[in-house]
Amino acid sequence: MEHRAEVQATDEPEAALVLEASDGVDALAELWSKVQDAIRGSIRREQFETWFRRTALIGLDDETATIAVHNAFTRDWLSRYYLGVLQETLTQVVGATRRIVLEVDPERTFTQSDDAESMGVSPPEDPTTLRPQPPRARVEPQRGLMASSDVTLNPGYRFDNFVVGPCNRFAHAACVGVGENPGKIYNPLFLHGSVGLGKTHLLQSLCHGILDRNPSARILYLSCETFVNHFISAIEHGDLEKFRTKYRNVDLLVVDDIHVLANKERTQEEFFHTFNTLYNAGKQIVLSSDSPPVEIPTLQERLVSRFKWGLVTEVEKPCYETRVAILKRKSRARGRELPEEVVRLLAERIDTNIRELEGAVTKVLGFASLSGQEITVQLVRQCLRELFSRRVGQASIEDIMGVVTDRFGVKLAELQSKKRTNAIAYPRQIGMFLARRITRMSLEEIGGYFGGRDHSTVLHAVRKITRLAKEDPSCSSLLSDLTLELQSDAIA
Ligand code: ADP
Ligand code: MG
Repeated sequence: MEHRAEVQATDEPEAALVLEASDGVDALAELWSKVQDAIRGSIRREQFETWFRRTALIGLDDETATIAVHNAFTRDWLSRYYLGVLQETLTQVVGATRRIVLEVDPERTFTQSDDAESMGVSPPEDPTTLRPQPPRARVEPQRGLMASSDVTLNPGYRFDNFVVGPCNRFAHAACVGVGENPGKIYNPLFLHGSVGLGKTHLLQSLCHGILDRNPSARILYLSCETFVNHFISAIEHGDLEKFRTKYRNVDLLVVDDIHVLANKERTQEEFFHTFNTLYNAGKQIVLSSDSPPVEIPTLQERLVSRFKWGLVTEVEKPCYETRVAILKRKSRARGRELPEEVVRLLAERIDTNIRELEGAVTKVLGFASLSGQEITVQLVRQCLRELFSRRVGQASIEDIMGVVTDRFGVKLAELQSKKRTNAIAYPRQIGMFLARRITRMSLEEIGGYFGGRDHSTVLHAVRKITRLAKEDPSCSSLLSDLTLELQSDAIA
């Protein structure tokens, strides 16, 4: 590989390290054709034809490789999906790493690398020395959402990576179903739930599912914000016809965070018509929102009713077991297992939001690898101090209800119900005891929280648990466990 030597030769900096288009056209072209050949061997033919054929190396210095492409779309696509492959191949061919700069040059005539022979450039003698390992990063096939979508699909947001639990089982099944049979079973599909619970992940998994079956499906995926902005700008520019054509010629319309339509009357009106056109044409509509249709402020009644025509399903907060599964999955995906007690601790402490669970995994793994320490409960407390000290001071009655329901696997409604079976009465009494010991609430107030019981019931519970804690070591260790969970000082 003569260019390898040439490019690396540091004793001839001008000639070797800086290859400008003007003084080294052939050298650059030859080097680039090697890169292209190697890339061609590692990705599918259509991908190569689409993204790499019309490219050229136009500059190479000791820091940067400048690659010309014929339009901005190719530049963006390459930098989003193929930068890793390019980097790896270039490093292999050049023998050193260069920062890649992509430059749009629509005027340029691109030399086609498989015409190399006819142009007198001989193909590499031993292709195996040039062929890179298959790229480590998954190469996204050439397909995707319609260009006017405001996101590109996140390759990680797939059903395979989605942990299913009681909180999201129904929403997951609905998305799988719609992905398999768009426009047929649930139309529209309306997912709602609070932030960070996986709505966007599910919507994108659904799109991947549809594209897996039909790569040419026309999917328009937008945040509601973008729909509103496009609409406003269409009005401004008198372009409503174009706007309508664009929105109404799709197989699947996904609008994320549709609650943003609140208080936007004209956009609601327009969306109503978009909805009707697509619906009547049997096209699938998928919406997500932070609240169910009726709770979106000022949403026109006719939209509320249409949103309920198909399937409305909630993504709920994950229960303890699902949180455990998510923590394990996320850490495994990052190449490390968390010890059981660390998983338990995190799952107990972070109970509202999956994005936060993910954030904690990232933080803990990052902290452990930077500091070169084992991942222990101690380390986690140290690195997530902020999280653990959030409950400064007293735990609230809600916190207490939370740890008790989690620990015993009972529902809040059961603690507050009239049920008196031991499986419910015991956790209830533990809850009352902890509330009395930790909060400043009166016996009456505590009774009120536990389903309107009177003060004597609470007093009875406190006395009973006090006695049990003395007699039964399992009860006393349970109490200190729960107290530890509830008290930030004890934990942080
Ligand atoms: P939302 O749109 O409801 O606000 P997202 O879909 O953005 O939430 O999810 C937040 C993060 O949590 C994302 O990184 C997503 O991959 C992850 N996530 C959410 N739910 C799950 C799940 N059930 N399994 C795995 N990851 C999940
Ligand atoms: Mg979202």
